[in-house]
Amino acid sequence: MNLYPLALKLAGRRVLVVGGGAVATRRMPALLAAGARVDVVSPVLTPALHAYVAAGRLTWQERRFVPSDVDGAWLVQVAVDDPTAAAEVSVAAEERRVFCVRADDRDAATAWTPAVTRHDEVTVAVTDSGDRKRARAVRDQIAAALEEAPQRRHEPLRGQVALVGSGPGDPELITVKGRRLLARADVVVADRLVPGMLLDELRPDVELVDAAKIPYGASVAQEEINRVIVERARAGAFVVRLKGGDPFVFGRGGEEVVACAEAGVPVLVVPGVTSSIAAPALAGIPVTHRGVAHEFTVVSGHVPPDSVESLVDWGALARLRGTLVVLMGLKNLPRIAARLVAEGRSPRTPAAVVQEGSTDAQRVLRSTLGEVAGAAAEAGIRPPAVVVVGDVVAVLDRGIGPGEAG
Ligand code: SAH
Repeated sequence: MNLYPLALKLAGRRVLVVGGGAVATRRMPALLAAGARVDVVSPVLTPALHAYVAAGRLTWQERRFVPSDVDGAWLVQVAVDDPTAAAEVSVAAEERRVFCVRADDRDAATAWTPAVTRHDEVTVAVTDSGDRKRARAVRDQIAAALEEAPQRRHEPLRGQVALVGSGPGDPELITVKGRRLLARADVVVADRLVPGMLLDELRPDVELVDAAKIPYGASVAQEEINRVIVERARAGAFVVRLKGGDPFVFGRGGEEVVACAEAGVPVLVVPGVTSSIAAPALAGIPVTHRGVAHEFTVVSGHVPPDSVESLVDWGALARLRGTLVVLMGLKNLPRIAARLVAEGRSPRTPAAVVQEGSTDAQRVLRSTLGEVAGAAAEAGIRPPAVVVVGDVVAVLDRGIGPGEAG
């Protein structure tokens, strides 16, 4: 079969979708992303399609199809199971010379939707002459190749900075966008907690600045990092500033954004999977749970609770029922736990420490608020680790905990 491949400009053009079920739902995002003016004709809609209607993103005729629905459409998508009903749409479309895609019967269609993969500005569409599976397999191979290849053919992102969260440690937990930008970097400035495997993938010509190795105290080091980022970007490089977890969760990302802004360097932020949620999750601790915790609070334990420098209201935290997640809190854990108990939180509250969450070295210690500091010291728990306090610590014990066998 000889098909003629085309790419359609649907912006502002009417597209008729007949059917409101799973297939129509799956087709909708690409049509809307193309800017099509979508009319759906169907007696019923899935909740996802209802949500589009409520948001004013498509219009809905709550009834069965009539041939005049095709009038004025540039394209028709048939997404109904009933072959007789689908054929009726095909006939109406054919009479009006409108191309018609059929989810139920490709042979009866006048247009086919290809298997698609999108990478930034490039869309790859794979069509076939009947073997859909093969087209999808080819598409998947192209997608994988585009994902892996150093993306040199892009418009260069010269003179810009991307602040990218690398996730908690497992190299697979960086975002797709973060990884794509990393593959395009000329300079990478990486923190200590960034997964090493991500840096291993960089092209040999990429300049890697290890921010952990910058000497001096923390504040001078931060100024030096800001200076390096700005200087390299000004010299025309695309700089990826890679930071553990999420850049804005105790990551000093905000200071780097300010430094770039002051220097007139454009900066883009790519959020990351933060260890404050991910490390508990991977230890089987949901930070919220219905009927258990309706809040979670993330605090830094870097400054001891009794220090004049502390900005944390530990008394208020002790009065919360919900989940408390403490980052950078291992060293001060004895004082933090004691303060929470002194301010009223029960020493029997379940507590856990998760060391190096999401990595091969992950360790989990379960205890109570009263005993967690001693238990962590005894077990030799090391940073990086998060401390979780609250009833959620025990919530998934049933079922996955080893102690429940009897
Ligand atoms: N921006 C990071 C946090 C930086 S502060 C984020 O969003 O995750 C550094 C602290 O994060 C560590 O002291 C530790 O408390 C925590 N942390 C980072 N990675 C961790 C991991 N894999 N497991 C447990 N805690 C981690």
